[in-house]
Amino acid sequence: MSQHRRFRFAPSPNGPLHLGHALSALINQRRAQETEGRLLLRIEDIDTTRCRPEHEDAIFRDLDWLGIGWETPVRRQSEHFDAYRDALARLDAMNLVTRSVASRREIREAAARAAASGNPWPRDPDGAPLFPGDAAILDEAEIRRRLQDEPQALRLDTKAALARLGEIPRWRETGFGADQEIVADPLSWGDVVLARKEIPTSYHLSVVVDDALQGIDEVVRGRDLYPATSIHCLLQELLKLPAPDYRHHRLILDDDGRKLSKSIASTGLGSLREAGATPAEIRKKTGFEDCSP
Ligand code: GLU
Repeated sequence: MSQHRRFRFAPSPNGPLHLGHALSALINQRRAQETEGRLLLRIEDIDTTRCRPEHEDAIFRDLDWLGIGWETPVRRQSEHFDAYRDALARLDAMNLVTRSVASRREIREAAARAAASGNPWPRDPDGAPLFPGDAAILDEAEIRRRLQDEPQALRLDTKAALARLGEIPRWRETGFGADQEIVADPLSWGDVVLARKEIPTSYHLSVVVDDALQGIDEVVRGRDLYPATSIHCLLQELLKLPAPDYRHHRLILDDDGRKLSKSIASTGLGSLREAGATPAEIRKKTGFEDCSP
């Protein structure tokens, strides 16, 4: 097994950590120990409207309580917008970036109208309607007006990106007890947003830039992010960044079989602690001890 690997736990401070985060952090810690490696903490706070300092403080408190250590300084994404702008400029110089003006709501409404008239609209792996191009939603004059007067989202021209590479990217997946090469499916995401109107980057772009800058060897995260890896390995190839291995682990579900959400207090680590739970009980609740994730 390779030694001295570098891992990261990368929560967003937009709500309290829950049992699913605990499982992720614990597996990261175990992998770092197994490889005599390092565990870094990254605060993914590009969405400055939803991320709060009190949630960041709670992340530190919860991890510390669980017995998970991390190295300092912590990388906080909101302090590195320039690095993401540089990556975006490189993609733009390859002619792979398109401007778009239709809002998410307009795309959703267009998809709903199409579905109502019997034409189901393709959706991305997260269930959001794919962006069909501004021209499918807005008239030409309106597009021109918005391009001139309003901030725009920047999207990856995914088809052009694949054409430029000439082959479909792949990643190494070591989750689920196997070691496999996975063929990416970036087209399933359509033309993903690389920078939002109000934020000069996106989750996909910043995660890829940071995993490379922080020298991450193995990304350990929940299975909900498995489909996003198709975009991540495409961006890594385009930007010529080293590709980490990926280990996607099972998710913890609620009683109704749904993914845990930050708004459900009963599974929040802080609420569980206040109700008297011990770190050992949290480990047990996540199923961490008895699973090889
Ligand atoms: N910041 C993401 C989250 O909190 C995780 C990103 C990742 O691990 O790639 O869901």
